[in-house]
Amino acid sequence: MNRKAAFRVRVLGCGDAFASGGRFQTAFLLEIGEGRLLVDCGATTLVALQRAGIDPSTIDAVLISHLHGDHVGGLPFLLLDQHFRGERRRPLALIGPPGIGERQRDLMRVCFPGSEAMALRFPLETEELAPGKPHRSGEAEIAAIEVDHPSGAPSLGLRIRADGRILAYSGDTQWTDSLVELADGADLFICECYAYEPGVSNHMNYRALLEKRSRLRAKRIVLTHLSSDMLARRESLEIEVLDDGMVINL
Ligand SMILES: [Zn+2]
Ligand SMILES: [Zn+2]
Repeated sequence: MNRKAAFRVRVLGCGDAFASGGRFQTAFLLEIGEGRLLVDCGATTLVALQRAGIDPSTIDAVLISHLHGDHVGGLPFLLLDQHFRGERRRPLALIGPPGIGERQRDLMRVCFPGSEAMALRFPLETEELAPGKPHRSGEAEIAAIEVDHPSGAPSLGLRIRADGRILAYSGDTQWTDSLVELADGADLFICECYAYEPGVSNHMNYRALLEKRSRLRAKRIVLTHLSSDMLARRESLEIEVLDDGMVINL
């Protein structure tokens, strides 16, 4: 019998950096067959995992879109949890933009001095993504596309293909035409939409997204990373909004 690898997205956190609406910072857990891939690891992600009853030691890889604290700031807590408290001995892959390894060590050093040089009880395998160069993690094929969001390193939109399905995720970005390629043919496109009105730089605004929406050829578009202003207007939005705790089967 052919095994059907499911591709499921669990929304652990779809908040902005400022906890608008009481939401957790960005983290999506992708369940692909038996594999678990965590996409982004905001400062609150270990709390979100615990609240959802997900054992962090079941995660095979952490995939990072860009090097801002609300997407990467949870790494010291996750890694030290796995070192001190977890049963983990098998490797954990940390996959992200160029400089991801250095940023992870910097975070460890600032949060828990000395921990950056500690030998973890499990292999941490750092892998850098390069736009235009596909990357594999378990059953997932990952493509990175550079987006427009200054973070001290290239900020990436991510396209994850598994089980014949495609998930696209913008990361954080203001409108850029690279989103057209990113979303093309995706079963689900998770799009950052922090602001409602134009004028906020480095982030998407809803008016720009509506204007460009016909260029995004994804089967389903959902919004993430909403400001309190966007959340207050939720009932009037024409595009679906994510909530923490949502589960989407692709
Ligand atoms: Zn962010
Ligand atoms: Zn950001």
